[in-house]
Amino acid sequence: MDFTILEQLAGHRSAVRGQNYFNEGRVTQVTRIGDQVVGVVEGRQRYSVTLSLVQDSIDGECSCPASEHSEFCKHCVAVALALSAQEQAPKWLISHLKRLKKEQLIQALINEISADSRKLQAWQKRVHTSG
Ligand SMILES: [Zn+2]
Repeated sequence: MDFTILEQLAGHRSAVRGQNYFNEGRVTQVTRIGDQVVGVVEGRQRYSVTLSLVQDSIDGECSCPASEHSEFCKHCVAVALALSAQEQAPKWLISHLKRLKKEQLIQALINEISADSRKLQAWQKRVHTSG
């Protein structure tokens, strides 16, 4: 997913905010079925995003109030970036992670997160806003 496309769709401000949301790990679910993508973003509340992939562009819908006025909001941007990351992740990594037990996944995540203070802060924010 090209960031300039998202900037064109959402405007610079929303695109940057959406990118921050994505970097903070606030996208907690991304599921693609054909050309439809359903995502969940933890912001001030939990928002549901639906993206429709149409040829060179994307249609976005979100349950947040901003989406009523400007269709492609920061949550749509965050989900689009998460989709892109998911689709670029190597197949061996995805199949490896799917085979792990929950305890192994938790340990792997703890190792990753605690080694990086920025990630740790992002998770802290996420836990506090979703609680
Ligand atoms: Zn939204």
